[in-house]
This record gives sequence, C-alpha cells and structure tokens, in this order.
Amino acid sequence: MQTLFTAREIAERVQRLGDEISRDFQDSPLTVIGVLHGSVVFVADLMRAIATPHQLGFVTASSYRGTATAPEELRLDLDSLPDLAGRNVLLVDDILDTGRTLSALTVRLAECEPRAVRTAVLLWKKERTETVIMPDYVGFEIPNRFVVGYGLDFNGDYRHLPYIGVLD
Ligand code: 5GP
Ligand code: MG
Repeated sequence: MQTLFTAREIAERVQRLGDEISRDFQDSPLTVIGVLHGSVVFVADLMRAIATPHQLGFVTASSYRGTATAPEELRLDLDSLPDLAGRNVLLVDDILDTGRTLSALTVRLAECEPRAVRTAVLLWKKERTETVIMPDYVGFEIPNRFVVGYGLDFNGDYRHLPYIGVLD
C-alpha cells in the first residue's frame, strides 16, 4: 500500500474546507448530508471543522457493479433524511469518480425543496468524471487510481485506516 495522503495532510485540508464552508454559510440554515458509507469519516471530521451551526443527515448510495455487459445499477435510499425545505444542503461524499452518484442525489434532493444544494468531496478523479457536475468544495484532485482508507473501502475492508492509500 502506497500512502497518498497522510492523516495530518487530510486533517489540515479538512480544516481549511471547514473554514471556507463556515464563511459561505454564515447566515443561512445549513444541513450537512453524508453519503453512506464512504463519507462517514470525512463528514465526522468536516462537521467539527464547520463553525456555523448546522444539522446532519445521511443518505445511502451503493453501486452494484455487474458483468462487463450489464450496466451498473445505482441504488439510493433517502428515507431517513430530516426536513430540508428552505434549508441550504451540503451533500458530502468521499470521492467523485464518474459523477453518477452525486448527480443522481442532487436531482433527488431537489425534490425536498431545499433553498440550494451544494456538494463537497474529499477526493476528485477529475479525468474520470463524465457528468456535468462540478463539486463546490474539493479536498484533493487525484489521478485515476483505486484508493482506500479514511472511510473508503475495498470489499468492505480498509475503511478504518486514518490515511488514504493506493491499493495495488
Ligand atoms: P461515481 O458515482 O462518482 O462514479 O462513484 C462514486 C462512488 O464510487 C464513491 O462514493 C465510492 O463509493 C466509489 N469509488 C469511486 N472511486 C473509488 C476508489 O478509488 N476507491 C473506493 N474505495 N471507492 C471508489
Ligand atoms: Mg460512495
């Protein structure tokens, strides 16, 4: 395993994202929404770096990667969300890859009549993104490598690692 970002590098970047978000949402009701399971570590750290009072919610997104010929199915579960009407929503995910997850979630969240929906991702594989989505807050841009740690898994493992590494 090759370390891409150490725990200290992540902590410093997350604090700066929190500072930026705190300034941007100073005077408006904010709800932070984590995308389970991958965002769980990031969202826990990010919310403590946001000085502006805010509420918290979670949605679940999972991709079932089928055979080479079958399209990948994206499953979304928004059942446990708090009321978002009139609130600013910050949708937080671990990594933006093709962009399908955040694009689909943004559309679904708009049905909850929030004031606005913004997105924050810790990692962005920019060269892989095929949808029109542009994340509002980005921790790090990374090359097209499979990464684990800090919430990101391979087959359910490695989420507990405090750093982000490239699995080979
Ligand atoms: P997208 O819908 O943008 O293609 O995919 C986003 C989701 O795919 C992420 O939330 C994450 O669950 C998963 N994913 C994409 N790239 C990686 C990666 O390099 N490592 C891990 N562990 N998951 C990834
Ligand atoms: Mg995910």
